[in-house]
Amino acid sequence: MYSQEDFYSVDIGDTKFTVLKRYKNLRPIGAGTQGIVCAAYDDVTGKDVAIKKLWKPFQNIVFAKRAYREFKLMKLVDHVNIIKLLNAFTPQRSLDEFQDVFLVMDFMDANLGNVINTQLDHKRISYLLYQMLCGIKHLHSAGIIHRDLKPSNIVVKADCSLKILDFGLARAAGSTAMMTQYVVTRYYRAPEVVLGMGYTEKVDIWSIGCIMAEMISKEILFPGTDHIDQWNKIIEILGTPPASFLSKLEPSVRYYVESGPRCTGIDFNTLFPDEIFPDDSTEHGCLTATEARDLLSRMLVVDPDQRISVDQALDHTYINAWYNECEVNAPALNSYDHSVEEHEHTVEQWKNLMYEEVKEYEAQNYEMVEL
Ligand code: AMP
Repeated sequence: MYSQEDFYSVDIGDTKFTVLKRYKNLRPIGAGTQGIVCAAYDDVTGKDVAIKKLWKPFQNIVFAKRAYREFKLMKLVDHVNIIKLLNAFTPQRSLDEFQDVFLVMDFMDANLGNVINTQLDHKRISYLLYQMLCGIKHLHSAGIIHRDLKPSNIVVKADCSLKILDFGLARAAGSTAMMTQYVVTRYYRAPEVVLGMGYTEKVDIWSIGCIMAEMISKEILFPGTDHIDQWNKIIEILGTPPASFLSKLEPSVRYYVESGPRCTGIDFNTLFPDEIFPDDSTEHGCLTATEARDLLSRMLVVDPDQRISVDQALDHTYINAWYNECEVNAPALNSYDHSVEEHEHTVEQWKNLMYEEVKEYEAQNYEMVEL
């Protein structure tokens, strides 16, 4: 097993990264609510990697549960469009001292937020969307509905390959009160998530629709300032949904929605006029503004029952040129124990569970490196 001599420390801003000596030349590349991420060079494989230090994972139950869930899922998933866990370790040698978890992943060049602001042609847009759909379909096949897909959770390489970075919200996400001190981006959350209704896989199509709109217009489509404003922004653009949708709402939410302003919404040709699209592709006849707008109009539908499904989106003319059976229908994940999400453990219990998982992983990986 690893000993103290296998590690060294480096200060990244005011965060200490204590990592295995094989990881050299650490430099910061990003920060999220969960932690700080560095790029590094792996001496053993000769490849660049990304190393994430989970930020105070045991400061409260929400963070602890999230860290545990992410780690469990990352170990399980194996799909070209989902980030792969290459290594994981803790520099602490006992449960008493345990506080940091480092996750080593494939290194990617940028997050999608950086790429959205660059000039994207139809070929790139449709290929990025195809990969998001393949990754999401794979998560769905294991019963994981993301619900929180956004540009900062998606990473890409210069060659346009794309990977989803995280696994979204747990089924029982925990008390929101604990998260209020952190800024959460709600812009991409589906109406059924915003309104606290039951939800299905279709929530992730909504997020992909919002991301697609942003790739084209370079502006956030629904920049709500809070929960309530998020709903208002949605209906200002798409219009107040019909009675068939309102009847599915809980009485109190229905009352709230019905007593709010009635909006007619904006027509898709006005919302996404030809001028804002890249030039139609001369190489691929189906990659045109008309097809892109058609896909947007099918994804950005308030009523999830009327919204296009992941399979239908993969079949859409704007997307299906990329269709590759191995990527679309990759074998489902090994079994994921969903009961983890329902468990009510104390922070200390989550910490114990995480410690066991990390130690088990270290032992397995250590043996593999030794071999
Ligand atoms: P996260 O803490 O996972 O939300 O990541 C925060 C940010 O770090 C992301 O938005 C990316 O900009 C960057 N990042 C995270 N993981 C990677 C990776 N594997 N490769 C490149 N950049 C990453």
